[in-house]
Parts: sequence; C-alpha cells; structure tokens
Amino acid sequence: MWLAHKLIQGVAQLTSHNKLPILIYHQVLEQPDPFRTCTPTVAEFRQQMEIVGRYFKPLSIEEALALLRKNKLPANSICVSFDDGYLNNLTLAAPILKELAIPATVYVSSAFTGGENMWNDKIIDFLFDQEVVQYDFSVIDAGIHTIISNKQRNQLTLTILEQLKYLPYKQRLEVVDNILECHHYKLGAAKMMNSQQLKKLKQYDITVAAHTHDHPIMAVLPIEEQQQQLITNIEHLKQWGVADEPLGFAYPNGKMNQDYSQQTVELVKKLDFSHAVTTHHGVCTPSSDFFQLPRIGGWEKRPVRFHLRLLLDMIRG
Ligand SMILES: [Zn+2]
Repeated sequence: MWLAHKLIQGVAQLTSHNKLPILIYHQVLEQPDPFRTCTPTVAEFRQQMEIVGRYFKPLSIEEALALLRKNKLPANSICVSFDDGYLNNLTLAAPILKELAIPATVYVSSAFTGGENMWNDKIIDFLFDQEVVQYDFSVIDAGIHTIISNKQRNQLTLTILEQLKYLPYKQRLEVVDNILECHHYKLGAAKMMNSQQLKKLKQYDITVAAHTHDHPIMAVLPIEEQQQQLITNIEHLKQWGVADEPLGFAYPNGKMNQDYSQQTVELVKKLDFSHAVTTHHGVCTPSSDFFQLPRIGGWEKRPVRFHLRLLLDMIRG
C-alpha cells in the first residue's frame, strides 16, 4: 500500500505543478446511509484525509488560488471544501482535519441556521422512514405508492427529488411542507450548523464562505432575486462574525446553464467575491476562470483508487 501511494505521489510530483484539485464534500456520516451511498462515513473520510495529509500539500483555497494566479502552485497541492453547512462538518470532519493539519472551506447557505433542514433532506428522511409505507404524491402528479424495500425508497426518492428540484424555490418549499403535513410527518433533528456552531469552525482552521441564502437554483430566478440571495447571504455571515475575507462563493448545485447562468457569474464578479466554485469536474489551472472553478467529487472508497483518481485528474487537467 505504502509503495503504491509513494509511486503515485512521485508521478504527481513531476506532473501536477500549477494543477489544483479542490475536493468537494457535503456531509460526513456517522454510519453508512442507504440513500447517500457516495457520501463518506467518518472512517472513510479519515482514510481520504490521511492520504491528503500524507501525500499532498493541503492549502486553504485563498492561499492556493493566490499561488495559482502567479503560476507558483507547488506539485501535489490540494484543497478541501464542503457545501451547504452541515453540522457533521463540525462534529465529525473538523476534528480529523485539525488533527491532520488540513485547512478547509465551508460554503454556507444562511437560511438553514435556525434549525430548518434543506428541502432535499426533508424528502430523503421522509422517504427512508421505515415506519412510513404509504406515500401520496398526487399533489405533484407523482401517484400513490406502497413502499417497503430500500430499493423502492431509493427509486422513488430520486424521482421525487428530480421532479421538485427546478421548481422556483418558494413553491418548492411549499410543496415539500404540504406533502409532509398531509402525511402528519414530524421532521427530524436539525442537520445544519447554527450561527454559534459556524463560529467554532475557525478553531479548526476552517473558513466560512458564501452559498446564497436559500440555496435556490439561481438560473431560474430573475437577476434581482439572485442579487438579493447573495446580499442576504453575505449580510448574515457578516452579522454572525463568521464571514472570512476575502469571501469566496459556491453556486448551489453548481452546473453552468442548468443551475446558474453567465448573468449569475457577472453578478458574483460585481459583488467582489474572491473566487467562485462549481460542481463541474476537473482541476484548476492558471488559465481557469476563477469565477467558475471546477472541483473533484464522486468518491472512490478504496484509498489507492482515491489517490490514483486524483493523479489521473491532475494529469488530465
Ligand atoms: Zn449546496
């Protein structure tokens, strides 16, 4: 194992100057989850971070981008990022990152700091609650379902999430809450960090950055509402004393034309963000658009494969 990692590191040493992988995570789970099979458990996350800490030079995003802009990014540099602001970033990921001296950035949507969960998590929790077997989605023309197996739950969750995803976000929230109410479904515990918990990230060398207020699909909103989403987000982060300057940004869902538009990019530039990251797959280079930076997701669970995938992405990048 050690030899394989050393070999990969050696090849990367020769090929990865000025190539920056920014890893993208959302959650780190206590236990494996039947729906979130690509999300690492805490044990898998530790294995991945041990590779990052041992065979790479982990940098903060701002530090890495400053070097990249000057064509001076050393080989095997890497960044770690999280989207949304999940509480398990603080409780499970942060201690591991601190122990291994890995800085990170969390892009936070500020509307979920008061105990409200994100709409997709509400739907996933609801559809994976083993006590519920009858689901009535006729309100969105998605039929009535009797469900027992996790495979069926998985399939229906994908269908429902896809159907709701591109609704204007206010309508989407209303529909989700309406469905849950009709089933007398009680929401679970808060999954997102509150403002006090966000403050604690600094102790772990974790930077807070912007991710809009309500996590809407920006591309379907009028430009004035997009601007309001960004300004409200910045104001909240500043008010809580957690906005790290210069402030970076991550586009919700993160795909050009589908989730954000060129207009959104211009807006982000105008509001003086230092950089913006997407969910497009790839490594950053000095010629990347620093307001549409790609990231690396889609996790290989086995450590050597995880390392090898990063090498291949850096060679391709
Ligand atoms: Zn997000």
